[in-house]
Amino acid sequence: AKEAGKNSYRFYLAEMNETVIQKLVMEEWLNKALEYEEFVLYYQPQVDIFTNRMNGMEALLRWNHPRLGLIPPGEFIPLAEETGLIIPIGEWVLRTACKQNKAWQDAGHPPLKMAVNISPIQFHRSEFVNVVLDALDESGLAPEYLELEITEGIAMYHVDQVIHKLQTLRNLGVQISMDDFGTGYSSLTYLKRFPIHKLKIAQQFVRDITVDPDDAAIVQAIMAMAHSLKLNVIAEGVETEEQLAFLLDIRCKEIQGYIYSKPIPAQEFMKLLERMPA
Ligand code: C2E
Ligand code: CA
Ligand code: CA
Repeated sequence: AKEAGKNSYRFYLAEMNETVIQKLVMEEWLNKALEYEEFVLYYQPQVDIFTNRMNGMEALLRWNHPRLGLIPPGEFIPLAEETGLIIPIGEWVLRTACKQNKAWQDAGHPPLKMAVNISPIQFHRSEFVNVVLDALDESGLAPEYLELEITEGIAMYHVDQVIHKLQTLRNLGVQISMDDFGTGYSSLTYLKRFPIHKLKIAQQFVRDITVDPDDAAIVQAIMAMAHSLKLNVIAEGVETEEQLAFLLDIRCKEIQGYIYSKPIPAQEFMKLLERMPA
């Protein structure tokens, strides 16, 4: 009877939509991932290309699953957002990134800005400002060394509340940047009203910047707009010398991309810091 039960269970599994099962299993694993300390942050330098110095780094989340290995965020963040798990996970990311940045500063490295990705779901919560304050308090990191990367998607609802929250964070001294700029919808309408410091030019425009005149024009338009709105700009996904030369030419000061370094674990990142001119 036991055997039969097992077989019918297997039969049932086979009949079910495979993706539904995968999702349930993933959700179960994701639920435990914080408790089992399976998350890890990688760090990627943000570099001033005129001085060749590092200005800061972006913290990028990975899930180190004991059986599946290192899982990139694109494969579990959507599920984390759907299930609400992004709330505790996002808090962990903030706290860990702040602590790590403070530890590097305490080790005597020149202070740099730590950029942290914030999901719209996380941002919209009424506790969000307090979560940020707690991460700063707990780590002892000064607010100007924390940068929050938000996306245009946060402007979909409650725009006035969003602006108010951004203003509160800005008044606290926290930096705000708009990630993947140009890929969302609301960009131009809200940009002027959003109290942000920096635009991140999305990788999709940088990729073909030297071969596609449309992409080159878009990036130049973003540069001009940022200049008149007095916003800083960073180009992400820079991989080649040609892209770098183009960006230098249009006076885009800051870049992030494989040309300088891939995202790397804290241990490796520290070696970069040690090699960096003081
Ligand atoms: P993003 O914020 O746009 O991050 C940049 C992505 O581009 C990263 O992918 C990075 O590894 C990759 N990248 C950087 N330089 C280059 C380059 O030169 N060439 C190419 N081809 N790729 C480059 P990653 O780490 O897989 O992250 C993917 C996305 O997952 C992020 O996109 C972000 O939206 C999300 N994410 C990552 N960490 C977190 C997190 O802690 N919280 C939340 N809510 N989202 C996160
Ligand atoms: Ca980002
Ligand atoms: Ca981005």
